[in-house]
Amino acid sequence: MNLFAGISRLPLLERLTERTYDLLVIGGGVTGAGIALDAAARGMRVALVEQQDFAAGTSSRSTKLIHGGLRYLKQLEIKLVQEVGSERAIVHRLAPHLVIAEPMLLPLVEGGTYGRLATSFGLWVYDVLAGVRTEDRRRMLSRTDTLHQEPLLREPGLLGGGLYAEYRTDDARLTVEILKTASSFGADCINYLRAAEFVYTDGRISGVRCEDRLLGGTHTIQARQVVSAAGPWVDELRKLNQSMNRKRLHLTKGVHIVVPRTRMPLRQSVYFDMPDGRMIFAIPRGRTTYIGTTDTDYQGDPARPRTELPDVAYLLDGANRMFPSVQLTLADVESSWAGLRPLIHEEGKSASELSRKDEIFVSESGLISIAGGKLTGYRKMAERVVNRVAQRLGGTWERCRTAQITLCGGEFSGRDEISALIRQTAERLSPCGMGEPEAAHLVHTFGTQTDLILDRFFAEGNLSPRGLVLAELWFCMEYEMTHTALDFFNRRTGRVYFDIHSVRQWQDTVLAAMARALGWGPDRSARERGELEQALHEASVFPEQVPQAARETAH
Ligand code: FAD
Repeated sequence: MNLFAGISRLPLLERLTERTYDLLVIGGGVTGAGIALDAAARGMRVALVEQQDFAAGTSSRSTKLIHGGLRYLKQLEIKLVQEVGSERAIVHRLAPHLVIAEPMLLPLVEGGTYGRLATSFGLWVYDVLAGVRTEDRRRMLSRTDTLHQEPLLREPGLLGGGLYAEYRTDDARLTVEILKTASSFGADCINYLRAAEFVYTDGRISGVRCEDRLLGGTHTIQARQVVSAAGPWVDELRKLNQSMNRKRLHLTKGVHIVVPRTRMPLRQSVYFDMPDGRMIFAIPRGRTTYIGTTDTDYQGDPARPRTELPDVAYLLDGANRMFPSVQLTLADVESSWAGLRPLIHEEGKSASELSRKDEIFVSESGLISIAGGKLTGYRKMAERVVNRVAQRLGGTWERCRTAQITLCGGEFSGRDEISALIRQTAERLSPCGMGEPEAAHLVHTFGTQTDLILDRFFAEGNLSPRGLVLAELWFCMEYEMTHTALDFFNRRTGRVYFDIHSVRQWQDTVLAAMARALGWGPDRSARERGELEQALHEASVFPEQVPQAARETAH
């Protein structure tokens, strides 16, 4: 039975309560997903619980770059640059349809963060540390070449530029594919199940009592070892376990805004200076360009960071200074997201100065917590945590082998095969009035699993854009534990951020199909509609200030 099907919740819950696991992971973001895959692949019996949807925390709200972290070089965090740099080549190999090369332009401006010599040297060191292939190594550009590369750049004060290698991804899709791969190695992963209380035997954690947020009720899962990969909630669980020490989390909020590509027709991604000395990205993606991020202290509810008006104003101002012919206004911002960085607090340091390094805490009762880190480094973080788990469990376990495990949907030999699948998909869709844009969306979202969606599409016989959305939805419910319309429109397909109009276009279709498939009554359907509309509102309407949320420090 496919336990990743949304409809398999009851058998999965039964199984979770019947077994004793070697490892229970709390948190279905990229960190928890990576740990579940690593441990399951080494032969451990693994369970993972996520209180919301998979990736609904920080792992759907990042800048979506698998990157070597140029800014860490500035902070002289050489080991971190080296590790994430080499990791991105590995993650690209494991999911080449989802982790795509994205050359980044760094304009050099008068009074900017980086001078020409320092940039040239810095990017060279970066390439060497990150093990970048010769053909992708940095190129220093003259002023004329920089403007040719990106004609929208501000001309006065422009000195030249550096072009270097980065990768773009979809963080939530990456997380879901890692979880599905973990499931293929036997891990039992479930969303909407909240770890509410630890269960102790002789002073040591022996399980977790969980609340079912979909069906109601509680379930106890027994495990020999528990890892908390709860991101911004790590301290909440450490408090529950009474194991806080001198170190604590420091949450900082990062906002991105999305504008139509037609309003900001960048030729390529740019990493540029802000007047306050910070740097932000502008990244074209499909029919949009997204701009971010801010970095400000946060004390509100970790589940609901909001984009506020000052965040939007800050990003618009930065973009309009660097790309003066564009002159974006609030009316151009069609969507946005706000995420929380779970950083480790350091006395006297501001949000932007805090290290992005990960750290592991082990409590006396045996709770292993991991905090900090990057999307890019998820595999290495997982390796370190699972090594600890193996040590504590005793016995012999295989070594980490996730560098060789292709993620679900990523079974391509290289770029040419991905292009070929996009071409074939476009050809199959062309008699139905669709083509390259739909094909590229499917292949970059689902990889080789696109064929399953197309087979369903043709089998159902509704050969229209509506039929294609329904086939996508079917796949996400059948293979990706999709329980709500927001799971589908946000974490499974990225539409809330990058194609918000299509959510409005298809919401009735999707809600009706989900109600039919999952047996929702009128109350549940109304609740689902309300939650979806609330999410669309929060993504596109910006309050001056959300009560309780921290005010800006770094702007
Ligand atoms: P999360 O994704 O937050 O996952 C933790 C999960 O635990 C949550 O889903 C939560 O619901 C769950 N949970 C909590 N408590 C419980 C409980 N009691 N029971 C069950 N589940 C629970 N990194 C990069 O490499 N590249 C980037 O471009 C990049 N950009 C970033 C931009 C921003 C604005 C931010 C905020 C971060 C960025 N990062 C980036 C960092 C990266 O996004 C994070 O390091 C990563 O997503 C953290 O993943 P996580 O799994 O640790 O946390």
